Amino acid sequence: MRDDCLFCRIVDGHLPADVVHREDGIVVFRDINPVAETHVLVVPEEHIADLRELEPSQADLWMRLTRVATAVATRLGHEAGYRFYVSAGPGGGQTVPHLHIHVLGGRMKRFPQ
Ligand code: 5GP
Ligand code: ZN
Repeated sequence: MRDDCLFCRIVDGHLPADVVHREDGIVVFRDINPVAETHVLVVPEEHIADLRELEPSQADLWMRLTRVATAVATRLGHEAGYRFYVSAGPGGGQTVPHLHIHVLGGRMKRFPQ
């Protein structure tokens, strides 16, 4: 938990979010600025700054994050499929330095910058 990290503060309940799923070590909430009909963020509770920091020892966590992405997309009505993307670092367009998977479902409003 980092006091200066937006998503750590959401995970901890210090800041509000529209949480759609929560399970051991993982929280899923709606993006505040959705670019598709469904736009949720799959977030590990543990502070990992970005994908480039993931270690082989976290393979199980990564697998669980991807499975939660599919489970939530399906539950929200996107059985036919969904988009999945991760920005890694400022050069990849990441604006919140706490690892998160974007799950986009349904009609796209615009493509993320
Ligand atoms: P990134 O640009 O790091 O890949 O994605 C960060 C995402 O977090 C953006 O899509 C942005 O709209 C979303 N976001 C930024 N601040 C908040 C917030 O306070 N609450 C929620 N729910 N989403 C946020
Ligand atoms: Zn954090």
